[in-house]
Amino acid sequence: MSLLSVVLPSFNEDEILPETARILRRVLTQAEIPYELIFVDDGSGDRTWEEITQLHEEDPHVHGLHFSRNFGKEAAICAGLAAAKGDCAAVMDCDLQHPPETLVEMYRKWQEGFEVVEGVKRSRGTESSAHKWSVGIFYRIMSKVTKTDMSHASDFKLLDRKAVDVLLEMSEQDPFFRAQSSWIGFKTAQVEFDVQKRAAGQSKWNMPALIRYALSNIAGYSSMPMQIVTVIGFLFLLISAVTAIVFLCRLIIGAPVTALAGAVLLMMLIGSILMIALGIVGYYLSRIYREVQGRPKYIISRKI
Ligand code: UDP
Ligand code: MG
Repeated sequence: MSLLSVVLPSFNEDEILPETARILRRVLTQAEIPYELIFVDDGSGDRTWEEITQLHEEDPHVHGLHFSRNFGKEAAICAGLAAAKGDCAAVMDCDLQHPPETLVEMYRKWQEGFEVVEGVKRSRGTESSAHKWSVGIFYRIMSKVTKTDMSHASDFKLLDRKAVDVLLEMSEQDPFFRAQSSWIGFKTAQVEFDVQKRAAGQSKWNMPALIRYALSNIAGYSSMPMQIVTVIGFLFLLISAVTAIVFLCRLIIGAPVTALAGAVLLMMLIGSILMIALGIVGYYLSRIYREVQGRPKYIISRKI
């Protein structure tokens, strides 16, 4: 039978980790699936690493990586996949919001010959309607720019070894697992799941973090914001040309030049658009700068 590696990014999850490991072990053993569990401690400040060490002592199927600081979930997924030895590898949250039983369903799909098995959310659990609405807009944009339907996408996926190797070769500094794993193609199947309530602990997301995440991922897949700025530039060129003509005409016919105030306002508007444009270009430039620097995406300080 083929080995399944389960990658579990974990940040301050000491309350739930032993329970997650216990349930996964039970479910995978019952389904007779050979497995390894790879917990990636993303620089936790609680007892997450001690729990992983304890789990490893109880069960050699459990492996652990510990980051030197918090590098983020995407980095944790990369490190976990790089350490995975399985013929296929699954990525799932370690807070039991991704139901372990679905993992078995995904594995069966993989056995049927699918190379990417995506967990798609049937419902978004207990998220507020404002959250669902903003997430909806983000995924509509992402679906357009990645040219794949991401409206129900999640990080809960199972990948064949071939797909894992392709992902590991993608060396970008700001990886976005749920988009990359769709973007690479391969024979894909989907398995629906209901997002469960967090078994313990708290979500690590807040609004500023979500906005940063959304902007970074849109920029990672699309240069459209820069093109929008160009279009706005042309629009304002047109408006200023018309205003200038009106202004000149009024001067020629000797009409009072109250248009001056309008012209000043227009200049201020153009000035602010230019600054926003510079900001957008600067954002892309900073991303290129980070790529050129080529710093590691994560630093592993301990390994078991
Ligand atoms: N996580 C991580 N690093 C981070 C933030 C989160 O490894 O900086 C892990 C976290 O431990 C969990 C998963 O990513 O296993 C999803 O995080 P969370 O539950 O906070 O997100 P939500 O489910 O609320 O979207
Ligand atoms: Mg969660």
